[in-house]
Amino acid sequence: MKAFETEAIRAQMERSHNLEHSAPIYMTSSFVFEDAEDMRASFSEEKERNIYSRYSNPNTSELIEKVAKMEGVEDGVAFASGMSAIYTTFAALLSSGDHIVSCRAVFGSTHTLYTQFFPKWGIEHSYFDPGDFNTLEAAITPRTKILYVESPTNPGVSVLDLKRLGEVAKKHHLLYIVDNCFATPYLQQPAQFGADLIIHSSTKLMDGQGRVLGGITVGTKELIRSIYLFARITGTALSPFNAWVLSKSLETLAVRVDRHCQNALELATRLEGHKNVSWVRYPFLPSHPQYELAKAQMKMGGSIVAFEIAGGLEKGRQFIDAIKLCSLSANLGDTRSIVTHPASTTHSKLSTAERLQVEITDGMIRLSVGLEHVDDMWDDLNQALNSL
Ligand SMILES: *Cc1c(COP(=O)(O)O)cnc(C)c1O
Repeated sequence: MKAFETEAIRAQMERSHNLEHSAPIYMTSSFVFEDAEDMRASFSEEKERNIYSRYSNPNTSELIEKVAKMEGVEDGVAFASGMSAIYTTFAALLSSGDHIVSCRAVFGSTHTLYTQFFPKWGIEHSYFDPGDFNTLEAAITPRTKILYVESPTNPGVSVLDLKRLGEVAKKHHLLYIVDNCFATPYLQQPAQFGADLIIHSSTKLMDGQGRVLGGITVGTKELIRSIYLFARITGTALSPFNAWVLSKSLETLAVRVDRHCQNALELATRLEGHKNVSWVRYPFLPSHPQYELAKAQMKMGGSIVAFEIAGGLEKGRQFIDAIKLCSLSANLGDTRSIVTHPASTTHSKLSTAERLQVEITDGMIRLSVGLEHVDDMWDDLNQALNSL
């Protein structure tokens, strides 16, 4: 195993007879057999080879190998989107009657899976408060099979104690699954804290340029095998083109994330000093409640900053309207900085009290810090704040 940056560049498929330097794209739905014996051996899995791109393809295999190496685990399955990775992982591993324990501040669509779809298949869930481990122990029942968390969380950027969660999972024989999308394997590797499976929406920082959807689950060979057998039948495959884009993007993940984090820390610090900002949350700001934990388990603080505009809902909307450079968009982890106002958009259907459970206050802005020059980003945020 070479260093992270080296694997991200050199974990590459074998060259074809053309001796290309950069990996080609295999836009083919199927592969041919030499003869009847080759066909028999391939279908019986005596031979490991590509048969049909719903099963495997050189570009998706390259991406999987790369991400598995970056996360320090054995194997993986690539999916058409992050939600496809999350849904398929749960569906492959759970049976009717099983139970999930999860932190409350999960990605919105994951919450919707738990609450609107899993109950019809008899799969239940309970939320625990990551700040109080007694609530976790209390939520675990004999039917609990999975402990599922995200860290840092969306959009409140809370940091969960991944090591301690791993110890609880081990004690109760639970499968420990971490959605590592916000951190990327460059900033934190949950397998080091005992995670059995790590899930990514590759749509975010892995692509990092707002071009393609993708998802991936990586972990132990045995668990990945069960997920793969379900995935190849249910047709959740990532396209070879998107796999190629994502594999190329990973070559620059370390340098991009370094700059995202530098910019984010600088903007978080400047925002903290502005009179129209009530508070700022960023894992590597000393004022963050889990600052010490963040320092211990992450390399840097990530690309997301949350802050509260003094004056609540209306001022939050006014701030968004005054923004000129940053994009108003639902995505995150892009070269382009993006601002959102969760209380009036993604979480507008919740009551104020329900929003607080997921760490969203009325004037809260989620800033996904991009790669523009930090002074230009600051000029934009500063003029919007001064206009209030
Ligand atoms: C975006 C996101 C997802 C879902 O990924 P898609 O690629 O949009 O399906 C899951 N988890 C987190 C933390 C995300 O930010």
